[in-house]
Amino acid sequence: METPGSQSSLHRANLERVVRAVRMAGSLTQAEIARTTGLSAATVSNIVRELKDGGTVEVTPTSAGGRRARSVSLSGDAGLVVGVDFGHTHLRVAIGNLAHQVLAEEAEPLDVDASAAQGLDRAQELVGRLIDASGADRSKIAGVGLGVPGPIDVESGTLGSTAILPGWSGTNPAEELTARLGVPVYVDNDANLGALGELVWGGGRGVKDLAYIKVASGVGAGLVINGRIYRGPGGTAGEIGHITLDESGPVCRCGNRGCLETFTAARYVLPLLESSHGAGLTMEKVVRLAREGDPGCRRVIADVGRHIGSGVANLCNLLNPSCVVLGGDLAESGELVLGPIRESVSRYAIPSAARRLSVLPGALGGRAEVLGALALALSEMGDSTLLDGTLTTATPVFT
Ligand SMILES: [Zn+2]
Repeated sequence: METPGSQSSLHRANLERVVRAVRMAGSLTQAEIARTTGLSAATVSNIVRELKDGGTVEVTPTSAGGRRARSVSLSGDAGLVVGVDFGHTHLRVAIGNLAHQVLAEEAEPLDVDASAAQGLDRAQELVGRLIDASGADRSKIAGVGLGVPGPIDVESGTLGSTAILPGWSGTNPAEELTARLGVPVYVDNDANLGALGELVWGGGRGVKDLAYIKVASGVGAGLVINGRIYRGPGGTAGEIGHITLDESGPVCRCGNRGCLETFTAARYVLPLLESSHGAGLTMEKVVRLAREGDPGCRRVIADVGRHIGSGVANLCNLLNPSCVVLGGDLAESGELVLGPIRESVSRYAIPSAARRLSVLPGALGGRAEVLGALALALSEMGDSTLLDGTLTTATPVFT
C-alpha cells in the first residue's frame, strides 16, 4: 500500500496527470504539458522519458512557434477506443487508437421503429466487422463511448422517454452494450457528444467554454464549462429547446407553449413550406434549396436562425461561453443561418456577454457525435488501465 503524500504516490499522481493531458489532447509538446498540468518543465521531461521507456507514449520531433519541440502522444498500439452513435435513422461506428487516429468508420441506415435490442445487435456486428477490417486487436479495447438521442438518467443510466427512438425508452443501453461487447461502455446524449467531438477533434479545439447546439428532430445543447461537459445532477442540463419564446405559441411535446423547439425543429419548420414546395421535404433538402437561392427556404432558415439566436442570447447571459458551435443539417447552410443567429445575439444578449463570442458552424458535420463518443471513451477510460498494463489482460466476450 502506498501512503498518501508519500514520494511514490506523488510520482504516480504526476504520471496520471501527464497521461490524462495527452490522452485528451491527442498530442502536446512538453511545454504544453507543463502548462496544462502545472508541473515544472524538469518534472515533465523526466515523466515523459519514463513513459516513453515503458512504451506508453511516443515522442516525435515537431516545431512550435518556429522553434524545435518534441510532440508527445499516447502510443498508437497502447489501446483502442470505440465510438457508437445512434441517431433518428442511422447507426455510426468509429474505431480509434489512443493517439487520436481514426482507424475505421462506417454509417448504416437504422429503422426508427427498431427496438433497442435490434439496434444494439447491429452495433455489435458493425464494431466487430470494423475492428477486423482495420486489423486491430479486440483485446486492446479500453472503452466504448455510446451516443443516444435522448435524455439519460445520470443515476440509473436508463433512457428517458424519447420521441426520436420510441422503442428505446426505459432501457439501459450502456449495460446492454457492455453485456454484448464485454468491455466498459460509457453513454451520453447526442448533444453532449457533439460538444465533446467539436472540443476534442473539431472547431472548439483549445477552447475551455463552449456550447454545442444541435438542431434536428429536437433541439438540444451540450455545455462544456472549463473543459468538462456539464450535465447537472439529473443529466438534464442543456435543454435549450424548451426555453419559452412565446407564451401563446404552439403547444410543445413537453406540454408548454411556444418553446424554442416549436420554432426551429424540423417537424415544426417543414410544414411551413408544404403548400409552396409540396410534401416530402427534409431539412437537408431545404438547406440545399436555400443555398441555391430559393427565397422561401432562405426565409424559413433565417427565421429559424433568429429564434435560435434568442436562445443563444439567454445562454450567453447565463454562461458567457467563448464559443457557440452549431451542429446538425442546419449548420450546412452557413451564413444563411449563422448571420441571423449573430443578429439576435447582439440584439438580446448583454453586450459584455456577447462581445467575445464566436458563433461557428460545426467542423465535423454528421461525424461530431461518433467522434464525441470516441472522446468520451478516451475521457472515461481511466489511467490505471494504461499505467498498470491491465488493458492487455482484458477479455472481451463478443464474437
Ligand atoms: Zn417544450
